Order: sequence, then C-alpha cells, then structure tokens
Amino acid sequence: MKYVKLIAVSLSFMILLSACSPSSTGNEQTLESTVGEEHTIIRSASKVTNDAQTKTIITSQESFQIGTHITIKVYDDKEVPKDAFDQIFSLIDTYEYMVSKTINTSEVTEVNNNAGLSPVNVSDSVVELVEIGQKYAALSDGLFDVTIGPLVDLWGIGTEHAAVPSDEARIESMGKIDYRKIDIDKTDKTIFLQEAGMEIDLGAIAKGFIADRVKDLILELGYEHAIINLGGNVLTVGTKPNSDAWQVGVRDPQSSSGSTMGILKLEDNSIVSSGIYERFFNAGEIRYHHIINPKTGAPEFNGMYSVSIVSDTSVDGDALSTTVFLLGLEKGLALIESLPNIEAVFVMEDQSVYVSSGLGDRFILTEKSYTIKSISDQ
Ligand code: AMP
Ligand code: MG
Repeated sequence: MKYVKLIAVSLSFMILLSACSPSSTGNEQTLESTVGEEHTIIRSASKVTNDAQTKTIITSQESFQIGTHITIKVYDDKEVPKDAFDQIFSLIDTYEYMVSKTINTSEVTEVNNNAGLSPVNVSDSVVELVEIGQKYAALSDGLFDVTIGPLVDLWGIGTEHAAVPSDEARIESMGKIDYRKIDIDKTDKTIFLQEAGMEIDLGAIAKGFIADRVKDLILELGYEHAIINLGGNVLTVGTKPNSDAWQVGVRDPQSSSGSTMGILKLEDNSIVSSGIYERFFNAGEIRYHHIINPKTGAPEFNGMYSVSIVSDTSVDGDALSTTVFLLGLEKGLALIESLPNIEAVFVMEDQSVYVSSGLGDRFILTEKSYTIKSISDQ
C-alpha cells in the first residue's frame, strides 16, 4: 500500500516537475536515502540557465520532501554539480526522518510512543527544536504549543479523514496539551512527555529549522548567492550576485491559483507565512484550516487570513508566523514591534493589510483589491 502511494506521489510529482521546468536538462532523478527505513528521495535533474541580469549561471533542482515541494536555486559563475544537490536533499531527508511525527521510526515518534513511560534519547537538533517550541509557547502564554499533536490528529486536517470532531473528543484532546509537561534533560539528551497520550508535533517550526541548516550547508559548500524555498518558506543566501535584493511574492490568501498580492524585498533573510490557505477542509460554509488554538481545541478564526514574517533565521520566522497568527492582529503586531530585526505583513479577511513599522519600502502591494491600513485607523 505504502509502495503504491509512493509511486502515485512520484508520478504526480514528475508531472509537476516537467510542467514546472520544461527546459530541464535531463530526466527526473531519484536519490537513495541513507537514513530510516529504505526509501527514495524524489527529485528533479538540474535546470541550468544563464541569467543576463546578474551575469551568472543559475542551477536549480526541485524535490518533494517533508510533505512539500522544495526548490533550491544557486547563482554562481559555473554550474553547480549534482553532488551538491545530493548533499542538500540528503540533509533534508536526515532531518525529516528525525522530526516527522508521521514516520514510524523518527525520534519524535519514539518520544510520542513513550509518553508517560520513559525518557527517549534524541539528537541535539530535536532538543534544540523542542526548546525553541517552549520559548514561543512561553511568549504566547501557551497559544503556540508543540504538544498540539493530539488535536492535530483529531482534526486530521490535510489527511483523508479530516472532519469536525465531537465536543467530547475535542475536550479530551485539549486535556493532553501542555508544553510545561515536556522534560528535557540536556546532559543525557533525552526528552520525556510526562503524561500518556501526549504528542509532540513540530510542524510549525521544522521547515524553518531545516531551511536554516540547508543555508549553512550551501555556505559551507562555498556558494554565496542562493534561494531556498521549502513549500513557501523562503530563505535567501546573500543578495543577488549583482547586489540587488531578492523579490519574493507574498501569496494572496484568497486565491486558489496561488497568485500573489505583494512583493517583499529580501537580503540574506527569510520570509515565512502562515495562513488559512495552506491546509484545510470545508464543512458546510466553513473552511477549517490547520492552525489550532489549544485553548478552544479548534482552528483559530480571528479575522486574519495570513501573516508573513521577515526574519534573519527561518526557524524564528516559522515559529513566529504560527504564534502571531494565533495571537491575532493587535497582540501579534505588538509582539513583532517589540522584537528587533523581525517584520511582518498581515492580510485580513476584510481586505486590509497591516505592515510592521520597520518594513518601510521593502513591501510593495501589487493586488489592488487590498488596502494598507494602520492600527490607528480602526
Ligand atoms: P505553520 O504552517 O508554520 O503555521 O504550521 C502549522 C502546523 O503547526 C500545523 O499543521 C500543525 O502541525 C502545527 N500546529 C497547529 N496548531 C499549532 C499550535 N497552536 N502550536 C504549535 N503548532 C501548531
Ligand atoms: Mg510556522
């Protein structure tokens, strides 16, 4: 069954890849994983283009990993060898097999399976991620909580069994969520969930963390200009080779085709968005999305459609995008204004857009059905 699914995913991804890159230089390729259970990483061949604007060569490859479409684009004076991309995709694979709660053999799954029973040895990265989770939980008074797993499972958003749960089931799952009941032993490098049924879910921060590690690797390999896109989490390496800023589109949360509503100019930093359009299911008139308020046990509806965070590291952007979405416009904007080097663009249900004060002319609104407002206009 699993194998059939893999083939189905592979085929649809191959179609997607060929549709996305008609001028790719060769056939689609795969890469054998070296971690976890035996599996193959689905990825494209290199697409190589001469970029007239920067007078460099862009080499890009795509893959389907961590449940998302990944594109890595490197600008250099020569083509980037396939081996560099092999290293990048293997690194992503290593982290996926450490942190995914849907992979049976991952460290996070082992921690979850031993909830209420015993501490589990984990890698430094898992300790680091859980600590980051605890930091943002404390900052949001528990609205952001990496022990959200039981509610994520209950709603099943993004899976075939997504459905509105009963009040009893929702309340029961809410009782299992509490980031203060995670014990981290930094000397022994173990994590223990104090109560049976607790479950860690790192879905809100893992992509950002992995993007940061990919950036480290690209720099280590000697490349200074690149753009890393993990399913919309974009992290840039340096500026463009001609010192121009990168221009990254901000998704229009109301568009089903994925069109953009604005442009952000980035230099050596990250943009991560959280919104109602990422994963959802419809029941009646309501669109149930995947960001869950642990205090109500249900997707958070507060008039926000999306928030995009600009930050130096992608893990902070990822954690903050989810946290700020849960905090809502007023509290979220106040948090962003209190943090150095962090900016945000909020897109609201009523077509208003709020931009944090430090963003200046780095955000350009392109979709005219939206209006930029400030909190004092309210
Ligand atoms: P993002 O797209 O980065 O906002 O992350 C959304 C993902 O984070 C969901 O798919 C869940 O896996 C997880 N999640 C949902 N609600 C919460 C929450 N309240 N705190 C932490 N993680 C959450
Ligand atoms: Mg996030």
